[in-house]
Amino acid sequence: MSEERKSRLEELRAAEAKLLVPTYDRNAVLFERGEGVHLMDENGVRYLDLLSGIGVNALGYGHPAIERAIAEQSQKLIHTSNLYFHRGQAELALRLVERTGLDRVFFANTGTEAWEGALKFARAHAGMLRAEGKPIGRKFLAMEQSFHGRTYGSVATTHKLKYREPFEPVMPGVEFVRFNDVSDLRTKFSDEVCAVLVESIQGEGGIRPLSAEFAHAARELTRTTGALLVVDEIQVGMGRTGRWFGYQHLGIVPDMTTIAKPLAGGIPLGAIVCTDEVARAIHPGMHGTTFGGGPLACAVAIAVIDAIEREGLLTHATEVGGYFQDRLRGLQKRHPSIVEVRGMGLMVAAELDSAELGKQVVQRMLERRILINCTSETVLRFLPPLVVTKAHVDEVVEALDAILSEAVAENAAQTAGGKSNG
Ligand SMILES: *Cc1c(COP(=O)(O)O)cnc(C)c1O
Repeated sequence: MSEERKSRLEELRAAEAKLLVPTYDRNAVLFERGEGVHLMDENGVRYLDLLSGIGVNALGYGHPAIERAIAEQSQKLIHTSNLYFHRGQAELALRLVERTGLDRVFFANTGTEAWEGALKFARAHAGMLRAEGKPIGRKFLAMEQSFHGRTYGSVATTHKLKYREPFEPVMPGVEFVRFNDVSDLRTKFSDEVCAVLVESIQGEGGIRPLSAEFAHAARELTRTTGALLVVDEIQVGMGRTGRWFGYQHLGIVPDMTTIAKPLAGGIPLGAIVCTDEVARAIHPGMHGTTFGGGPLACAVAIAVIDAIEREGLLTHATEVGGYFQDRLRGLQKRHPSIVEVRGMGLMVAAELDSAELGKQVVQRMLERRILINCTSETVLRFLPPLVVTKAHVDEVVEALDAILSEAVAENAAQTAGGKSNG
């Protein structure tokens, strides 16, 4: 049986190696089904999923509300284009406006596409202000360790060189500010800046929360010139932190925010939510998309939001996330290789003292049928479905405990071996 499994996986691997552009270095698992917080491989072996498709599957797998929305909407209408009305956009936009504290929505398909649109809106808004006689430039201030996506504008505002360098020249006019460094922000801010760009918690950057002090400084500075404060909530938003949006923990309201990953429960959908003031700069024909905000994606997103509400998942995320962090802190006391535990709600990280250990832990968790990943080289990242329970957390923490103990024992044995040989 396991030979058959190997061969099927090997077949796929060989076919992909020939047929796909080699952008991904996949783990050697073939998933075929999901149920709750578990994924099943082609032999029915169950994996506990603490990554939820990089924060996408917030309701887990096989949630009846999502299945029903897809079944019902797919029988009525899947796509019409943005040339005509359908029922979904206004109904979903109302839910997003109510929860963000902002006024208007533009629907895109993915995270990077939402972010790309937000950059265009910010430049257009500054252009409108200039036409009205205000001195304001075109420059963006983005953060060090930021991640905003892979298209040209998004990648230009993404800090890591490896994402930008092979594709240069990228969009010009971006300067990076040291993360959470208010004095660096004050130095670099001027009326040349059309927008300050932040994530409320840096995701790919290692689950690093923006400080309230920095958020308030950015909010005040941008208000002095008419520049925009734009918060990327693509990974953080939609309830993961125990509130609908990460900036709601910081006591600020941005001019514009972007949402995507969990928005439509795995069906691609992104959104820009902005103020009336930002939207004043946009007129019919200036921006658009063929697929964005289609009937199917909107119907599913409505079902996702209503399920999060109905099932009390914000409170649940706070409770289980708090428990998760407590248990990891307990582990940290016994394992000095954990240098820091941080996060908010069910966006949780344990930073390790070496990149090698990070890789090893992810691999051994996979062998124990638990899915996590390591970002920013040393940061174990947990983005479980919001329906995860304390019992699942216990399972993960116990596995991590065992793996870290093994690693220490092995390293000690290696060191001892090295000594006796040397
Ligand atoms: C994933 C992510 C993006 C990009 O989203 P895609 O759907 O992959 O294009 C942008 N910003 C943040 C914070 C993200 O986590």
